[in-house]
Formats: sequence, C-alpha cells, structure tokens
Amino acid sequence: MSDGGTPPISSSAGSVNAGTSSGAADAENEIIDDKAPLWKFVKKIQKRQGGGGWKWQCNFCKLYYSGSYTRVRSHLLKEGTAGVAICTKVTPHAFTAMTKLARESKERLMNAAPRHVPLPSSQQQGGSSSTSSYGMSYHAYTQAPTASDSGKKRKTAAGSVEKAFQNSAREQCDGEVARMYYTGGLSFNLARNPHYRNSYIRASTLPGYIPPGYNALRTTLLAKERKNIEHHLEPIKKTWKDKGVSLCSDGWSDAQRRPLINVIATCESGPMMLKAINCQGEFKDHAMIADLIIDSIKEVG
Ligand SMILES: [Zn+2]
Repeated sequence: MSDGGTPPISSSAGSVNAGTSSGAADAENEIIDDKAPLWKFVKKIQKRQGGGGWKWQCNFCKLYYSGSYTRVRSHLLKEGTAGVAICTKVTPHAFTAMTKLARESKERLMNAAPRHVPLPSSQQQGGSSSTSSYGMSYHAYTQAPTASDSGKKRKTAAGSVEKAFQNSAREQCDGEVARMYYTGGLSFNLARNPHYRNSYIRASTLPGYIPPGYNALRTTLLAKERKNIEHHLEPIKKTWKDKGVSLCSDGWSDAQRRPLINVIATCESGPMMLKAINCQGEFKDHAMIADLIIDSIKEVG
C-alpha cells in the first residue's frame, strides 16, 4: 500500500542522486541513500546526456536500461510502472530484502522530515481572552469619537469582530516571535535589547517589509555599521594627542568559546575598543602578547 504513493517522490530523488554522485558512482554505493536506496542493486554505466538519469545494468538479469531511480525501482520491485519491464531474475529472497529496504528508507525519510507544528492558540479556551478582547474593543470605541475621519468610525461599527480578529493575529505573531527564539537558540536577554523592540516597531510601519537575509547581515550591513561606528569614534581618537591615552588588554572567551584577547584604548573621553584577536590554536606566551601590544601602540601613534 505504501508503494502507491512513492513514485513521484523517488523520481525527483533519483535525479538528485544521479546528479550528486556522478563522479564517484560505484565508490559511494556503500552508503545507502534513503532517497534512492535501490541504486546499489544495479550498475551505473553512464550518465545520460540531457535527459537526466543513467544508463544502468541490472545486477540480477544483467539487462541494460536507462532512466532515473523510478525506473530502477519499478524494475527491481516488479511494479510494472514507469514504462520499464519488470525483472524476471530477482529471487524471492532478494525481492523481500529490497522491498524491506525501500520501506525502511521511506520511513527514515519521513521521520527525519521537519514537521509543521501549528503555533499555540487560545481559541479553544475562550474564557479569559474573550473578556479581554471585549475590554479592548470597548476601549477602542471610547477612543474613536475623537477621531474625525469616517474611516475610523466605520472601524468601530465592526469593532469587536475586528478586534477579536486582531487579537488572534497578534497572538499568532507573538507565537512566531517566540518560536524564533526557541528554534534559533536565542538568548532571552535579546528581548531586553532596545533594538529588538525598535526593529519590530519600524517594521510595522513598512507594509511588506522583509528583514535582511543571511548574506546582507554578514557583509554589506556589517560593513556599513562598522564604518558608521568608526566615524562616530573619530572625535574620541582626536583627543588622544592632547589628553594622552592608555592601552589596556584582557583575555576572554566569546559565545562560541573562542579565546579572544582584546585591546582597549582609554582616555578622559572614554574607552574605545581597538581590536580583539582570536588566538585559537596559538600559544599565548609573552612574545605573542608583547607583539600584540606593540602593534596596538603603533596603531594609536
Ligand atoms: Zn533485472
């Protein structure tokens, strides 16, 4: 029964497999690919040009076929689908083993796949939240007459329904933010970071705003912020010459437990971090620290 639903999944998986293992076709047959476990019962002869898939030889009947994993599977498991003849030389014992392998691979894939878990919702336990939603709609109603435009007046007519809808939307939004913390392993202290709150406030004024992605954060935006900070530190640097400056240094570990040594220039105008170097894998002896401090002195001038 499980066989009926598989062909579309394994057909795409077959082409992925054929694409990735093109270089080391036979060498990697030892490792069972759960997406296409039956490849190891045929011999890949040659990758097909254009159409995708392989020219392959069945280990049992020694006949040559070509195509994707779907056809390998159909041939070996005698499914008679995918436009390929079934294998007449597969022994009952081998057939049972291959069927089992295919089934187990499929189960492993399904267990490994991320599950969609709905966000928490209080709609089932309406009690306390519905009273608060009434409270809020009443609040909106009392505020509304001060607003002059008709759009706002219309809003209050359908007020309680809309507010109830908004509450549920707000709850979903809260749930999404909370899940970002839990799944990303973020520190709850981030919630105390003023930029956390401000970013959402700003985002809410820009309909359709999408936050920066992985690459923007680690390249352009980082460079921009660094330049900006350096620009703002320039006035402090200028006072060094007149007021004098002291260098301090300390060692510590960052969140990823990398051993870091920092150098801080401090003067009347305030402390300023010059740099932190990652000395992972280096022997932290007197010579290395002396070099670091000498370099920093040259930098300060
Ligand atoms: Zn065969």
